[in-house]
Amino acid sequence: MLLESSFIPLYERNKKNKPFIEIKKEKIGEKKPFIIAGPCSIESYEQLYFAAKVVKNRGAQALRGGAFKPRTSPYAFQGLKEEGLKILHQIGKEFDLITVSEVLDSKDIDLVARYTDVLQVGSRNMHNSSLLKELGALRHPILLKRGFAATYQEFLYAAEYILNKGNEKVILCERGIRTFETYTRNTLDLNIVAAIKELSHLPIIVDPSHGTGKRSLVLPMARAAIAAGAHGLLIEMQPDPEKSISDKDQTISPEEFEQMMDQIHRVHQAIVS
Ligand code: PEP
Ligand code: MN
Repeated sequence: MLLESSFIPLYERNKKNKPFIEIKKEKIGEKKPFIIAGPCSIESYEQLYFAAKVVKNRGAQALRGGAFKPRTSPYAFQGLKEEGLKILHQIGKEFDLITVSEVLDSKDIDLVARYTDVLQVGSRNMHNSSLLKELGALRHPILLKRGFAATYQEFLYAAEYILNKGNEKVILCERGIRTFETYTRNTLDLNIVAAIKELSHLPIIVDPSHGTGKRSLVLPMARAAIAAGAHGLLIEMQPDPEKSISDKDQTISPEEFEQMMDQIHRVHQAIVS
């Protein structure tokens, strides 16, 4: 048995290297920011189709949509489950977009892996080490969201559970933490972007949608995340945000998404040149 003090964790063994994860033909951490966008929940074929069209036309690489939803209330919409995953798979193929969806429970791993390219572990499951271990046996990339009360060390150890089972494709995602502030849903901790670059080779993307909980704050925080050096963004966007079944207050419109893509492109140009 390895004593913790006697070895270097996998998350920091290659920290001198640039992060590099290949998904289909996209290389995360290399050049362009990796943008994942789409509705919080997959609600219907039409809703996801129109979101995908916007994602593709604006040059983003990945389409998201929850089919298994971790809701605070057990009475809230829990997702379309397999039916939702089928919709995501079909539309992802049609638009040639990478697909991302959350896996809530170990028993659903095979199902979610059958239909999606990237499996998301939500904030509430970051501490679920048995789920993380099982995801370590997959070859699919894992989008690991930070627990809303997790330290950087806890977050990196959660990644380590996946890495040390042999899956090297872990993408970290800052999605805000719980603080004393109540105006915003969470407090987006952008320190983490620079800190992770000192601590690990893993790519880190930022989710200003859950990180703020407010539509009006998504654009400025998306710009700030890219300026801080984030390797990408996760954005909740759909054709008619006010009609979203979940997370409507933080879901942006296609027009706002278009503005965001233009602005972050310019911020990115400014920091790489
Ligand atoms: C989501 O991405 O829709 C989600 C539920 O995120 P989180 O786990 O960060 O709350
Ligand atoms: Mn959401």
